Amino acid sequence: MHQPKITVIGSINMDLVTETDVVPVQGETVRGMNFQTVPGGKGANQAVAAARLGAEVTMVGRVGDDQFGDVLMDHLRKETIQVDNIDRVPNTPSGLANIILSEQDNRIIIIAGANGNVTTDYIEQTKAAILESDYVLLQFEIPKETIEYSIELCHKHEIPVIVNPAPAMELDKTIWEKATYITPNETERQQLFTKQRNEKLITTKGKQGVSLIEAGKEQEVGGYAVDVVDTTGAGDTFNGALAVALAEGQSVTEAVTFANAAAALSVGKIGAQGGMPTREQVEQFFE
Ligand code: ATP
Repeated sequence: MHQPKITVIGSINMDLVTETDVVPVQGETVRGMNFQTVPGGKGANQAVAAARLGAEVTMVGRVGDDQFGDVLMDHLRKETIQVDNIDRVPNTPSGLANIILSEQDNRIIIIAGANGNVTTDYIEQTKAAILESDYVLLQFEIPKETIEYSIELCHKHEIPVIVNPAPAMELDKTIWEKATYITPNETERQQLFTKQRNEKLITTKGKQGVSLIEAGKEQEVGGYAVDVVDTTGAGDTFNGALAVALAEGQSVTEAVTFANAAAALSVGKIGAQGGMPTREQVEQFFE
């Protein structure tokens, strides 16, 4: 089987994770328990998922000229991801998520930073890599016009594109029609596709797996029962795996089954990327 070429156009973030017993109220300072920096961003997460599953992955995105940018580029390289199409944006921070974890709740502030500089011009600049792909993967943490432009570009050149509409954002109806597959979770499906039911939609439903629409009928492809440690990044693992399987020529049902297994394996470990399985691990899961 040839190694599929996947290009991910999307966000690259550093997650700054602070754990605390007490969340400070206005004007208060509290002592926290722990702090970690963890590479993330939906684009980078999906790229890592696809690379671990055996694809040749190119990431199209941007990071800042700060230290996080260096760390994020090194991290992607270690995951065997091609980083020639990741450009540094001067005088701009890398994208980051400030995450406060407590027993009480989780609070997150996202700064787009250099992800906001993934412009339509930048897509033009990186077009050669995009047009060489077997499959393109997109999420919604980069500017809307860039998402629309990228879908149009793929459609025009007949490159199949999976659009993961997370976090939810409306696109023009004519643009949705140009996506090959659209992969909302249940909340995003309710927000964006109440009126639309077509065969492009692959809806993820947590531990229940997914639903597909075939011949006008909604069908379930069940998930796998596993012990859950942390479901963060399950959706990203699912999308990366789906792209790999479809690019290898698997049928939609086969590809979704493969992606359900990869995503189920990912929830057994902490962190979005921490639990993303290798190809061998998914194959062993099916033995
Ligand atoms: P997240 O935001 O946590 O990354 P999501 O909301 O984008 O996830 P989900 O629908 O929750 O997406 O999960 C994506 C896929 O991951 C599911 O379709 C399923 O295959 C798998 N999955 C998620 N949660 C579980 C679980 N508890 N047990 C087994 N598989 C799971």
